[in-house]
Amino acid sequence: MRATTMPQVGARNELVVLRAIRVSPEGVDQSDLMERCGLSRQAVSQITRRLIDRGLVRAAPVHTRRRGKPAMSMQVEPRAMLAAGAHLDPAHITVTLVDMLARPILKRSLARPGEDPAADVERIATALEDMLRELGAGLSDEEKEAVHRSVQGIGVAAPGGLDAARGEVLDPPWLPGWRGVPLLDLIRDRTGLPAVLDKDTNAALTAEYWPGRFAAGETVLYLYVGAGVGSAVAGDGTIHRGSTVQAGEIGHLPTGVDDARCGCGRMSCLGLYTDMDRFLAKARRAGLPLDRRTGHASALADLQRAARGGEAAARGLIEEYGAALGEAARTLISIHDPHRIIIGGPYWGYLDEHATPEVTRGAARARGGAHEVLVTSSTFGDDVGAIGAATLFLERELSPAT
Ligand SMILES: [Zn+2]
Repeated sequence: MRATTMPQVGARNELVVLRAIRVSPEGVDQSDLMERCGLSRQAVSQITRRLIDRGLVRAAPVHTRRRGKPAMSMQVEPRAMLAAGAHLDPAHITVTLVDMLARPILKRSLARPGEDPAADVERIATALEDMLRELGAGLSDEEKEAVHRSVQGIGVAAPGGLDAARGEVLDPPWLPGWRGVPLLDLIRDRTGLPAVLDKDTNAALTAEYWPGRFAAGETVLYLYVGAGVGSAVAGDGTIHRGSTVQAGEIGHLPTGVDDARCGCGRMSCLGLYTDMDRFLAKARRAGLPLDRRTGHASALADLQRAARGGEAAARGLIEEYGAALGEAARTLISIHDPHRIIIGGPYWGYLDEHATPEVTRGAARARGGAHEVLVTSSTFGDDVGAIGAATLFLERELSPAT
């Protein structure tokens, strides 16, 4: 597979107009675009014509009562531009293909990352080829070629401990075979696609941002629940990554619950309550019969079922998880002063029902309870890492800010 030159959507104003059209899935007309983009009628008209010529945007007449030339409503052509996403989670690798609106088209769930990164990259590339084959089934050779050409690149999301600029995975926890791996070089060499790497937490937050549902000036805090917990924060649509892309490594944030000492030497770090290995071990010690298959999802599904079925111990454990996360949220609110908190990640769906009230309670105690912060669950489900990874690539290509 080989990336061809993507349509030269180079000029910033074109990206501004394309974004305005993209975040209005119901369609937007020329006057709206002038207002939203701060551009003249002539500029908007020229740019939209170019976007239509490139197949990125389609226009349909809007029937109004007024006489004369009908207004044209513009929408993006979502399949004109596809991006691949790969998420290296300690429990599994997920590969997905999304359209320009970051809606997943196909996905493949693969076994967990092993000790040989090159072999894992091979599995990712094979899964991608397999998805493209599925997408091209029944099409003419020419149409298949067009599908291949529409894939612009691949985004990769991995746990913290990486060098995003160099595209290297340095020392992520729970991925023992992955020390100092030039991941993006391996991906580019194998797929021929341009690639981008970031933390799974940042990828997840990028997916939340992409549909344009937050006001421009909003500060959004994301809590990511996976094998461990992490956070990501964005203000004005820009993610704060820190000097070494380590912002949001919150596993050693104090929870104030003084009943256990962490390996780092301090008491009651967040990870003691939220690292999934520890959490599920505690549930088993409490006598709950949880699935012992590898990965945490099946055990968490059992725990969720028990909690819903009225098993007090199961419910109590999930509430305890929520309370620890709520304490972290309380601290993070003081640091970041967010407008809203979104909680997601591969395992959050199993916990949210009984943990969210506890997180909300913790968040409400921040700032002396003076100002409540909105706490919601992500709508992306357990594939958010892979969808977010693909969105990272879309953002790099299409965001006017970069
Ligand atoms: Zn610690």
